[in-house]
Amino acid sequence: MKKQTKAIRIQAERSQNREHSVPLYLTSSFTFEDAEQGRAIFAEEETGNIYSRYMNPNVDEFVEKMCMLENTEDGLAFATGMAANYAAMAALLQQGDHVVASKALFGSCIQILTKILPKWGITCTFVDGHEISEWESAIQDNTKFLFCESPSNPGLHLIDLEAICQLKVKHNLILAVDNCFATPIIQTPADWGADLVIHSATKYIDGQGRVLGGVVCGREDLIKEIRFFARHTGPSMSPFNAWVLSKSLETLSLRMEKHCDNAMKLALALQNHPAIEVVNYPFLPSHSQYDLAKKQMKMGGAILTIDIKGGFEMVNEFSKNLKIASISPNLGDTRTIITHPASTTHSKLSLDQRLEVGITEGLVRVAVGLEAVEDLISDFEQALEKALVGSLVG
Ligand SMILES: *Cc1c(COP(=O)(O)O)cnc(C)c1O
Repeated sequence: MKKQTKAIRIQAERSQNREHSVPLYLTSSFTFEDAEQGRAIFAEEETGNIYSRYMNPNVDEFVEKMCMLENTEDGLAFATGMAANYAAMAALLQQGDHVVASKALFGSCIQILTKILPKWGITCTFVDGHEISEWESAIQDNTKFLFCESPSNPGLHLIDLEAICQLKVKHNLILAVDNCFATPIIQTPADWGADLVIHSATKYIDGQGRVLGGVVCGREDLIKEIRFFARHTGPSMSPFNAWVLSKSLETLSLRMEKHCDNAMKLALALQNHPAIEVVNYPFLPSHSQYDLAKKQMKMGGAILTIDIKGGFEMVNEFSKNLKIASISPNLGDTRTIITHPASTTHSKLSLDQRLEVGITEGLVRVAVGLEAVEDLISDFEQALEKALVGSLVG
């Protein structure tokens, strides 16, 4: 069966009610027939549900589908993407270990690596990461873990997944890839050899801006350690969120195709606009890593950036005039969202730090939604036009 079929047909076992759509198992615990069954399940001689902090039919169904989509042996779901990222690092690293990570990571991952893990003697070196040689020269005797995001947020820089996987094999390290922007529909890092693939399910996996969630998919032995950590520290996904997210996976490939098609068309329509310095999108031939994008991504993704001439003032005029696109720090929604990273998500960085990861004053991130693309193109064009005219008059 194709993945699309499995994403729809993998289902928790039907109950005595013979329901067609999976019911919500909103229960904190489960019962045993007798004390003997309780003993056998706890002793792992028999499989069975015990308690929703560590197992639940809705959560298990969601995880089974994610592992199928990511081509991994095992996986575990979490309350949020950050809980998933933190659990993976906290479970697998110990005092004295060292991490090499790309600079362009999600902000809270940088906070974990620079403010939280150092409290327990775990250190990190950040690299630009486009050149694999930078990763290699940052590796120390105590390096255990490599961590990257591709494409990155909001710079849309790519990490060469084949090359970084060769490097981690050569140095016997664990490689974790945050695959949130690409989703398994666009790339499956485990096929190149990534040990862990991490997601904020809050984004494209839900895709409709409703629930939070996270998931770590990967090697069975590593997931076993992460499961021990999570079982006893409790960052579990709720059955309700798992129920919503598992339903969302039924339409993920369909949604991603439309997201990417809209993004490509919007990128093409805006790339020569007089108000725009540059449009950045992995599948535009002008992208600095176009060949790599074509090699490791099936589609260009749903995010593009536009660098508007005239800095914040022009960005603000443009944003005021948008009639359809929302202004919000989120992404991965049916609704198109614009974000100005320099004044919001990345405002805590210094100017130099921002420029290092390509965040200029005019940069606008566009998380392209599922509206009719003709409407999006005319909305962006009219808002840019008004900003331009305003600046000439002013
Ligand atoms: C949103 C996001 C996260 C954090 O996920 P939450 O579900 O908000 O905790 C981590 N990594 C990336 C790339 C994200 O976009």
